[in-house]
Amino acid sequence: MLYKIRVHSCHSWFFLFAWFAVNLPAQDINFSLTPNTVRPGEPITLVIDKPYPEYRAKLLDVSGRTVASVPFFALKDGKRIAACIAIPASWKDARGRIRVEPAIPGLGDLGFSVQPRTFESEVIPLDEENTAIRSEETAEKTAQSKTLNDLLNSRGNTVYTYEAFKAPLTSTRRTSQYGEQRVFVYTDGRKAPAVHAGVDYGVPKGTGVFASAAGRVRMAVFRINTGNSVVIEHLPGLYSCYYHLDSMDVQEGDEVKQGQRIGLSGATGLATGPHLHWEIRLNGENADPDAFTKQPLLP
Ligand SMILES: [Zn+2]
Repeated sequence: MLYKIRVHSCHSWFFLFAWFAVNLPAQDINFSLTPNTVRPGEPITLVIDKPYPEYRAKLLDVSGRTVASVPFFALKDGKRIAACIAIPASWKDARGRIRVEPAIPGLGDLGFSVQPRTFESEVIPLDEENTAIRSEETAEKTAQSKTLNDLLNSRGNTVYTYEAFKAPLTSTRRTSQYGEQRVFVYTDGRKAPAVHAGVDYGVPKGTGVFASAAGRVRMAVFRINTGNSVVIEHLPGLYSCYYHLDSMDVQEGDEVKQGQRIGLSGATGLATGPHLHWEIRLNGENADPDAFTKQPLLP
């Protein structure tokens, strides 16, 4: 009976903890952490044989600082839970740890390796129209930013896909990569740094754009910055975004299959030419879209 033990000194506390450490009931915790080596921008998934989705997974850097804290969700079998975490593009440490809270006896911090990664840089001069789109603060723009950020930081409960993602179009012509360090130059010479959150495909206006995985359309609207914009939720907290479309084939609430056409590419919003901007958000973090095409996020 723990609550009847009277503790008088630090030494007593030590022996109390020592007693617990050796007397914990032996438990088999089945879990998987995949992959065990990632690069900044890539996702890591922890699956545990537990039916309780109210646990959280914390991402810790080498100094023990909490970088992210994401909820688990239940897999379809009802016996396992999963948490998917994107390693931020700004991550510098060679290792990281995942901690489950509340603590599960027998399951300590889980370590993984992070390979170093460098990102390209680009200077982008903007014409008058694009300078205005990017630099002018209007109430409408602010409201649109809030709506999009609220959506990308929210999460449903549905697992729509267990598949690896597919590229959203057949072209492989890329004009900008994920994580690129950008400097926008306005017409008056002012400079604004930004990190490119997705991948750009330079394709002619009218090129078919396809859902990269099954999911539900959570946004299909015109936005000042991103033009005609489609956002699809695939897993709780996992979204793919398709920007600057010339036209959209889907509406908010539609359920889509992998490879279903959702619109045609264009140059609406802040665009220096026709292109598709394809972006992935995982629990609010920008993630590298290519990493999602290599292997399924869930087992
Ligand atoms: Zn882009």
